[in-house]
Amino acid sequence: MSKHPVVIVGTGLAGFQAASALRDEGYAGRIVLIGDEVHLPYHRPPLSKGYLLDGVDEARLRMRPETFYADKQIHLLGGRRAVAIDRANRRLRLDDGAVLDYAHLVLAVGASNRRLTVPGSTLGNVLSLRTLGDAHAIRERLRDVRRLVVIGAGFIGLEIAAAALKSKVEVTVIDVADRPMARAVSPATSAVFALEHSRNGVRFMFNAQVQQIAGEQDRATGVDLADGTHVAGDLIVVGIGVQPNIELAMTADLAVRNGIVVDCFMRTADPHISAIGDCAAHPNSFAQDQEVRLESVQNATDQARCVAAGIVGRAIPYRTVPWFWSDQGGLKLQIAGLIHGYDQTVVRNDPQGIGCTVFCFRQGRLVGVETVNQPANHMAARRVMASVLAGGQGITPQQAADSQFDLREAAAPVHPA
Ligand SMILES: Cc1cc2nc3c(=O)[nH]c(=O)nc-3n(C[C@H](O)[C@H](O)[C@H](O)COP(=O)(O)OP(=O)(O)OC[C@H]3O[C@@H](n4cnc5c(N)ncnc54)[C@H](O)[C@@H]3O)c2cc1C
Repeated sequence: MSKHPVVIVGTGLAGFQAASALRDEGYAGRIVLIGDEVHLPYHRPPLSKGYLLDGVDEARLRMRPETFYADKQIHLLGGRRAVAIDRANRRLRLDDGAVLDYAHLVLAVGASNRRLTVPGSTLGNVLSLRTLGDAHAIRERLRDVRRLVVIGAGFIGLEIAAAALKSKVEVTVIDVADRPMARAVSPATSAVFALEHSRNGVRFMFNAQVQQIAGEQDRATGVDLADGTHVAGDLIVVGIGVQPNIELAMTADLAVRNGIVVDCFMRTADPHISAIGDCAAHPNSFAQDQEVRLESVQNATDQARCVAAGIVGRAIPYRTVPWFWSDQGGLKLQIAGLIHGYDQTVVRNDPQGIGCTVFCFRQGRLVGVETVNQPANHMAARRVMASVLAGGQGITPQQAADSQFDLREAAAPVHPA
């Protein structure tokens, strides 16, 4: 075993899981986990959901208590930024000048929010949400704002909108697309969410181009759209997606496209450097082995396990069913597979409620299943997708359309990755 440690950059879910999985795999060498955030590693999903409403304690967001790191001999360096990789000598330089040798380097550097660049975007009450600090700032302001404007009708924008409604705030959601979550879900699922959020009081403005954030002194007072409409607001939250943190890899001459490029073992072209989680552009079997970058808890967790197995000499390719969830008020969206490149959808509505299941096919082959408030169907869909991954038929559009056809019967048991 090398005398040098495995060094992991990023204390988000992927970095934390990689350190933890290495110990689960029996790795007995040193592990250094470095992150530029000062908090103990914490879960991000609650930040746009329960945490925004009072009552969720910060300690409950932690992945593990402080003692875990000592018990597992994971050397956690918080509040430190990795600034340069010397690949020839396998050394990593930190922002305080420290230099660390590594046997293997795992880049789990995640993604950062895309910034709005229109005039007024830097006014004091224009916020966005990625970190615990961001969530805290939004939560504090939600206590006394009357009108929230959310720019971006993606998952995070809509989760924030739903949480704000519970705080009795008036909410307007603006998006350049013509429907919510347009890049991520089928039109049928968008329609369910548009209807339900509107019923609950969200005002949507679609096909809307933001021209500037209007303000007085250093405070935003609303959003001006290109068609001349002014949308008044005393808090503006921008949720227009993220971009992968590629700078460290780029300056080390590693290949980057929409993320740090890795193979199916999460290895870059340098055999001593891997990349995982939101920052990793990897070949995905659900996208016909095209390079994709996923932003989900499942992806960060499973890629971390994959890289840990590789480091201990048990390399297994990353071939797992992608899945995702988003909680928006009373609606739970769950996705199994990838809603990508489909050419046919079959919708099964719940006759008793607002739930539905949407099956997405490409050339007759199932590529993804969206469910709204139907968790049992989601679990069955994950098992069906696993059987597709193993070379099985999955289900046909005709079976999907047949309300008597029981999805659970088509589902093979899932073996954990
Ligand atoms: C508000 C919110 C809600 C979400 N809700 C859901 C959900 O409901 N369901 C779901 O599946 N997914 C959800 N996600 C997505 C999920 O949380 C992410 O996919 C996951 O956290 C990615 O983990 P990661 O470790 O790859 O990246 P990150 O969580 O971004 O962690 C990367 C870390 O690396 C640090 N870093 C970057 N560069 C350096 C450097 N040079 N030196 C040191 N540190 C560095 C960053 O500051 C960060 O702490 C949500 C995300 C957010 C932000």
